[in-house]
Amino acid sequence: MSSKIKTFGFALVSVMVFNAVSYGQIAFSGVRDVGAQEQVLDHTISLHRSWSELASDSSLRDEYEQTIGYWADAIYEMTNGGHRLGKVRIFPRSKYKGKTDVNWVANLHPSANPGSFMTSNGRINMSDMFSYRIPSNSTTNKRRDWEGAGYVLAHESGHYVYSLYDEYKGDTINNLIYWPQLTDEPVVPSIMNNQWNARGGNYEWLNFSTPDNIGITSETAQGRMHGVDAWTFLTSNRGKYDVLKSRAPSNSDIYNGYRMKIELPSTRARDSLKVIWMSDTIAIDMVLDRSGSMIGTPLRDLKIAAKAFVDIINKFSDTTGLIVTIGITTFSDSTENAYPLTVLNNSTASQIKNIIDNINVQNMTAMYDGVLASGNKLLSASSDVG
Ligand SMILES: [Zn+2]
Repeated sequence: MSSKIKTFGFALVSVMVFNAVSYGQIAFSGVRDVGAQEQVLDHTISLHRSWSELASDSSLRDEYEQTIGYWADAIYEMTNGGHRLGKVRIFPRSKYKGKTDVNWVANLHPSANPGSFMTSNGRINMSDMFSYRIPSNSTTNKRRDWEGAGYVLAHESGHYVYSLYDEYKGDTINNLIYWPQLTDEPVVPSIMNNQWNARGGNYEWLNFSTPDNIGITSETAQGRMHGVDAWTFLTSNRGKYDVLKSRAPSNSDIYNGYRMKIELPSTRARDSLKVIWMSDTIAIDMVLDRSGSMIGTPLRDLKIAAKAFVDIINKFSDTTGLIVTIGITTFSDSTENAYPLTVLNNSTASQIKNIIDNINVQNMTAMYDGVLASGNKLLSASSDVG
């Protein structure tokens, strides 16, 4: 394999990235240090909707993006600026279900497994329809649904990322200590009690409990499980995030009579936010050198490698369910679109291997033009999904 194979580099990178997700539970998820006292959380979502449905409807994608924006606001508010939401990758068609941070279906009661972020043991369960609707059916106040859904995700982050428990009053007595009981006393204000109250700019309801408002600890699931309020827990040895240890509200942080710090509204909350739609389609264009320098063994080796690559990618597409489009651009003294981007399957794999076999050597080399032509080919293929 000569250095000519390097022109596959770009294509291989995107393939390997997808491959990592299918085998690693938490690829793309994690915590990034962005300063001594700040961290960014990257998350993944497995979404039940098809890519074709999302690709053709930017207003539908916008509904999710708006919701995630409010999730980011709440993460910033609840951690008093210590954490921000970063890259949120959304996989359509329920892909990687069970391996992402959020499993998002059409209809269920949202929930989360406490403390399971960065483990393979649990996730946030989210839905399109609960006390909000995505897409919203309100023509006058869509924001209310987006806020509701975004703040629900943040409440679930309270469980999933920060290992906290609920602080609302349950509707039953089942004596499960981690479950809200009918005899519990709700914490006011607290996101682990009622995130719905935060809608419309009541940001105090996006904050965690403090020693001032937790009340009698046996009267909340949080208190029964941890013995203390949320901020005392987060700043103790049991808190997982050192950057939050200096973020608890101080005695001088008072808002409406409560000890708390209010950060919102603030554009800072969404500074690191990037919603990335992981489409089902990967476009790969092979750029092959057929200039005079390739005569003999180099061209023969290149053909063997290129055909093996086609077979590997075809198999990869089969096992992952990803749609791969593949094309060939050749270059020598001029570039040639030898094979347009075409969906790869067993039949097109044979066609494309025939094209590779029939590549002949020409004299000059115009590698730059070849790569440029290939890039334009890929760009025009991707422009329809925005
Ligand atoms: Zn809860």
